[in-house]
Amino acid sequence: MATTRIPPPARPEPQGGTAPAPAAYWDRPRPGAAVTTPRPAFPAPGPADPGDGATVAIDIGGTKIAGALVGPDGTMDSATRRPTPRGAAGDGDAVFAAVAEVVAELARSPLWPSAVRCGIGSAGPVDASRGTVSPVNIGAWRDFPVRARVEAELARHGAPLPTVLVGDGVAMTAAEHWLGAARGRANALCMVVSTGVGGGLVLDNRLHPGPTGNAGHIGHISVAFDGEACACGGRGCVESLASGTAIARWALARGWVPDGDDTAAGVAAAAAAGDPLALAAFDRAGRALAAAIAACATLTETDLAVIGGGVTAAGDILFGPVRAHLADYAALSFTGGLEVVPAALGTDAGLIGAAAAAMMLLPAA
Ligand SMILES: [Zn+2]
Repeated sequence: MATTRIPPPARPEPQGGTAPAPAAYWDRPRPGAAVTTPRPAFPAPGPADPGDGATVAIDIGGTKIAGALVGPDGTMDSATRRPTPRGAAGDGDAVFAAVAEVVAELARSPLWPSAVRCGIGSAGPVDASRGTVSPVNIGAWRDFPVRARVEAELARHGAPLPTVLVGDGVAMTAAEHWLGAARGRANALCMVVSTGVGGGLVLDNRLHPGPTGNAGHIGHISVAFDGEACACGGRGCVESLASGTAIARWALARGWVPDGDDTAAGVAAAAAAGDPLALAAFDRAGRALAAAIAACATLTETDLAVIGGGVTAAGDILFGPVRAHLADYAALSFTGGLEVVPAALGTDAGLIGAAAAAMMLLPAA
């Protein structure tokens, strides 16, 4: 009879707030073996100690680079920002100079010596496992090693801190779970609906960034398998149906005549005034979002979807169709209680999120 090889049991997950479990026997170095310490992108997560020090938060976007020292209670100190330099392709250093200026300014704060960790939230794509970013809106950065460069900058100012990098969707999710609309919720999908659509996940009270920091990127889930091609290379993506860009494009292509503003904000204003084409554009976007939210809930039992981003300024013009269409896609009993709510944090969500992600992912700093 053939023997069956039984794999070792799944490694136990460390529980929040407690010391990590000791290394399982298969993880311990063998006597005489070379000891290497691979660096996981995301060490064991858990809640932050409210008595610990400040977190250096850096938020990198296509239009601005912001920084702050964020306290364990969410208070922000020394918040500062620079416009994102328009560096030519290949001139990553010119863009990074703005990050270095932000760090230098934070280093002048009296709180700087109390900083214990650093969180970077960046426009994507990001690769958190390698610490690199290739933001669509920052052409000078392709596979730019932003985590290592920030760590070097922190060390130059006397603060060699552990640093975590996440995408802006994951950062927004961390912010909403810490201080916003997903506070106290064990499972949530958080989304940003803006010129693009991004997102992140909280599962079992933990931020779930995935190995490269992109888990929960709901904008590139297909909700129309034979739909139009998306910029990502996929087809029928939520982003190609529900982003602000997509809403305006769809309305214009069907003959909507803007009254000055031809963006999604203009479509929202027209919808509020009863324009049937504008209403149809938001209904279609809301339906795409509802299908994606329902898919996520069916897959992971998230019972809350938090939506932020510029397009949510439309209010019920957007949320009405999302909620109305949910029942068509979230039909199983266990998805029946699915809630959809607006994000609670505003302009500081990026910085709060960078700090929150670092606090959740680097609790032992
Ligand atoms: Zn896509």
